[in-house]
Amino acid sequence: MVNNQKIRVGVLGSTGSVGQKFIELLSNHPWFEIKELAASEKSAGKKYGDAVNWILPTPLPSHIKNITVKNCEPNLNCQIVFSGLDSNIAGEIETTFAKKDYVVVSNSKNHRMDEDVPLLIPEINDNHLELIKHQAYGRGMIVTNPNCTTIGLAIALKPLLDNFGLESVNIITMQALSGAGYPGVSSLDIVDNIIPFISGEEEKIEAEPLKILGQLTSGQVQNAKIKISAQCNRVAVVDGHLECVQVDLKEKTTSDEIIKAWKKFNGEPQRLKLPSAPTNPIHYFEEENFPQPRIHRNIDKGMAVSIGRLRPDTLFDFKFVILSHNTNRGAAGGAILCAELMKAKGYF
Ligand code: NAP
Repeated sequence: MVNNQKIRVGVLGSTGSVGQKFIELLSNHPWFEIKELAASEKSAGKKYGDAVNWILPTPLPSHIKNITVKNCEPNLNCQIVFSGLDSNIAGEIETTFAKKDYVVVSNSKNHRMDEDVPLLIPEINDNHLELIKHQAYGRGMIVTNPNCTTIGLAIALKPLLDNFGLESVNIITMQALSGAGYPGVSSLDIVDNIIPFISGEEEKIEAEPLKILGQLTSGQVQNAKIKISAQCNRVAVVDGHLECVQVDLKEKTTSDEIIKAWKKFNGEPQRLKLPSAPTNPIHYFEEENFPQPRIHRNIDKGMAVSIGRLRPDTLFDFKFVILSHNTNRGAAGGAILCAELMKAKGYF
């Protein structure tokens, strides 16, 4: 904040599933203030309240309802744009904004694997922000938030990697409907059903953690050397992705040591007491039937990752279950935490 003035922000893709979450979380943010909302031509020119089909349980704030939605063109009166754009068009639009000096914090996949773009989970790889120095956007910049499933997985894996070394990871997901955007999957496809395919998801989960958990050396990220295999399913849960994970570790250890490592884990957001930081990034449940999406997805502002059911495995060393909120920690909340970290570290 400059002279106690909040920083002016805009939301690209403001009418979508992630865009709505951004609005909910930014409406009372202590550092950021929503000044601009943008979406497709279909929505541009309308009052936000008329353009959006608001699907969140919290009421749409009245000052937001009356903002006129604009096109995603870099003439918005704000310093940061949070992007919840459809990935078919996000890449080019985000580049255009960065070239015009905006700070772009994106949830879309398009720039995640660019060599000079941080794929940031603030508790894990805050030092990757240094990549911004290599970007050719002048005062503008692009930082990305990982895929929603990757975020929960990477947070669970980081303490294992640091304490015991990680050889290989097998993951099977049960992913919520809000992860498919709005209106998303047709009700006739998902009621009484599970869909064993999410386009592009397995590839992202197998690739993104390697960059996030990688080492920054001489201005480049050296990917972590871990084998990851993923299978993804869409299930009839509204919010919260559940992940069944098996891991092979480099060193022998016990369940107690692993739980201790998870409980001890924290990072820069906790040290800096960032507004959106969970008190504890990981909550471990001893109950044999936890975590569950409906009950635990909102723990610690929906920003904590829940883990449970850790036990030795017959094929791998250990297996366990992860739950994380896909539009909160996995999208808008995670992106806002990235912006808070960038602000605290003086990037804008
Ligand atoms: P969504 O509900 O389909 O929303 C897409 C948004 O993009 C809408 O605001 C839409 O505006 C806008 N848009 C579409 N075409 C456009 C165009 N040609 N020009 C400008 N704006 C356009 O999608 P979502 O689930 O919120 O996801 C948004 C992004 O975040 C995607 O890249 C997704 O992969 C990623 N993501 C989603 C989640 C999740 O849990 N949902 C988690 C992590 C990452 P109109 O309403 O005007 O069409």
